[in-house]
Amino acid sequence: MLAVVGPPLAQIMLRLSKNGSYCLLACLLLAWPGLRAQPKGSACAECAAWNAPQKPFRIYGNTYYVGPHGLSSILVTSGAGHVLLDGALPESARPIAASIRSLGFRMEDVKLIVNSHVHFDHAGGIAALQRASGARVVASPWSAAVMTKTGVGRDDPQYGTIPPIAKVARVELLRDGQTFRVGQLAITAHLTPGHTPGGTSWTWQSCEASRCLGIVYADSLAPISAAGFKFTSSRGAIQDFEKSFAFLRAAACDILLTTHPDASAFWARVEERQPMVDPDACRQLAGRAEEQLRRRIAVETGR
Ligand SMILES: [Zn+2]
Repeated sequence: MLAVVGPPLAQIMLRLSKNGSYCLLACLLLAWPGLRAQPKGSACAECAAWNAPQKPFRIYGNTYYVGPHGLSSILVTSGAGHVLLDGALPESARPIAASIRSLGFRMEDVKLIVNSHVHFDHAGGIAALQRASGARVVASPWSAAVMTKTGVGRDDPQYGTIPPIAKVARVELLRDGQTFRVGQLAITAHLTPGHTPGGTSWTWQSCEASRCLGIVYADSLAPISAAGFKFTSSRGAIQDFEKSFAFLRAAACDILLTTHPDASAFWARVEERQPMVDPDACRQLAGRAEEQLRRRIAVETGR
């Protein structure tokens, strides 16, 4: 359900006819059709904490954090347009857009929106953010089908326990290893299935002066499911995870970003209690994820 914020259109038009000074409010509301409606908070135990306000900031070079505190949304900028990675919860779309603007960027300059995996806490805001920006959305074939058709995948390990996302109007398909360009930006898609069949991680380079670093936005790899689902009896599921671990082990990974900042000690790194730049971070993440999967397999097989 969507709760319309501000006065109804008819009321605005009446005010407009009586007093032109209301035009500012009306024009602002009409100029942001994608964000005119503010969704109610998502019904999940962690959602309010995930959506806690977070001041946006530069991570490195042209890479910025624009998400709420508990769910990543990353902006990569150029003079010829920007790329936005993930839209967090439906109720995160408005604060993400506000964060982008408060950094001095325009929503209309967001030319490409990409996704890690199509769950409500990472893809929930994408429909509204596409409406607000007019950006292309690209996604893996599995994720694109969920985004445009069903809102939640029937073969998603968590099917039945998670809410569907708001449908995204236009989604283009990506191929594994495909690079997308916006101006001089180049961002590459890597299929990293396991947590969902369509999971996608992203890599790009950001530079400060002559120092260019490889950034990895790694998708979730937690083997979580609805009751009754077994990764060990779901065709290809274990091999999916293994493909994703291999990607992480091989990636040029100076700075690791994860869909949930806590999954990579991001706030400790922002507060400089741990180094932000750590070329071993992706391999360590692969090791932790592999151990989680090993424990899950042991539970499923009783060994
Ligand atoms: Zn998820």
